[in-house]
Amino acid sequence: MITEVIFTGTELLLGQILNTNAQYLQQALASHGFDLYHQVTVGDNLERCAEAIRQAAARAEVIFIGGGLGPTEDDVSREALSLALGLPLVQDKAALAIVRRFYLARNIPMPGANLKQALIPAGGTALDNPIGTAPGIVLEHSGKTFFLLPGPPAEFNKMLDEQVIPYLQRRFPDQLATIHSRVLKICGLGESVLAERLGELLNSSSPTVAPCAKEGEIHLRITAKAAGKEAAVQVIDEMERAVRQRLQGYVFGVDEETLPAVVGRLLLQGGRQVSLLEAFTGGQLAHMFVSDPTAAQTFSGGLVLPGNQPGLLPSGLFQGAIPPPDGDTKEVAAQMAAAARRYFGSGIGVATAGTVLPVEYSRHQYPVGIAVDFEGNCQVQEMLFWGNRSQAARRAAGAALVLLWQILRLKP
Ligand code: AMP
Ligand code: MG
Repeated sequence: MITEVIFTGTELLLGQILNTNAQYLQQALASHGFDLYHQVTVGDNLERCAEAIRQAAARAEVIFIGGGLGPTEDDVSREALSLALGLPLVQDKAALAIVRRFYLARNIPMPGANLKQALIPAGGTALDNPIGTAPGIVLEHSGKTFFLLPGPPAEFNKMLDEQVIPYLQRRFPDQLATIHSRVLKICGLGESVLAERLGELLNSSSPTVAPCAKEGEIHLRITAKAAGKEAAVQVIDEMERAVRQRLQGYVFGVDEETLPAVVGRLLLQGGRQVSLLEAFTGGQLAHMFVSDPTAAQTFSGGLVLPGNQPGLLPSGLFQGAIPPPDGDTKEVAAQMAAAARRYFGSGIGVATAGTVLPVEYSRHQYPVGIAVDFEGNCQVQEMLFWGNRSQAARRAAGAALVLLWQILRLKP
């Protein structure tokens, strides 16, 4: 079943509002197995809107038109549909009752302009809008199904869920499939290595397997199209097993799970607390911990330094010599992680060490020492981060969390 979507509104073309209705509709279409090949946005212009409808009708079976159902002159979707199909606009009783009800319920007289909202191209049917003035419209014509939906997102979404999708399910009972996706979240692995390991799995067509690089993570989307959700889930389960076998030790979560949440859960399960000493990440790591409700419970506390200046710390924090600010970042980070543990009395200390100025040979590189002291055993890495300082700090904080996760996942 091929569908096409037309959004009307000059404000969309000018970038004044984000087309959130598009995302909502596209997700709904995908999850019900409709194919969407074209999505068009036109301004509030009768001719161009009618032309978009004609084009859509020539290449799709179900056409959605969003917006342009208001009472004002610039709202032209009804008129455009009528023009495109050569059908007269007639006043519809049910539509009029919907518009009237809105004003009756609020005890205010209905402005004359709203009468326009009761017009429907001949042969069409009104779709109820319990939360706005504009009735929607469904029209079957020459083997095509047209839907007109109001622009305000709350009305658009409600009408779609409660009337449009059920209508399509009744109208095309055999056509509906389910498209279902699952996202595997991967860290500690680059995109090209990931591609090498997955090999031919990335060429699979049912289900499809598509990586998407995010900051510090890769999201691998597995998508299956099947007759029902159960069948789709089964296909996805099989692919997930195959993927996990090739990516052992790198998949940290699924779908909505985040790395801080997963780390928090592992810490909570092991009854462990973490403390932080951040000389490069400026509190970004602490932010990750406190922003997640599970991780927040495992956070003992943190100290933030402006670069490698442990001399600023409360005296007694460092047992031995205080590491020099420009010293080996690995050595400094390791001592800082141990100091964090001592200071807050937690089992685990995590530290980031690095100068806040980019290194000389390139103004965009920051070498950062990242250390996790797990009950006295310290693992430490030096990593190079590119970009501006704020990106580098965010990535370094992410990398510290990845190192912590890699250690925790092997602990009972
Ligand atoms: P309309 O019926 O086109 O006049 O739209 C009514 C209101 O809904 C406008 O104020 C828009 O801001 C909003 N709106 C219209 N289309 C969209 C869309 N595609 N996504 C988000 N909001 C929209
Ligand atoms: Mg509009």
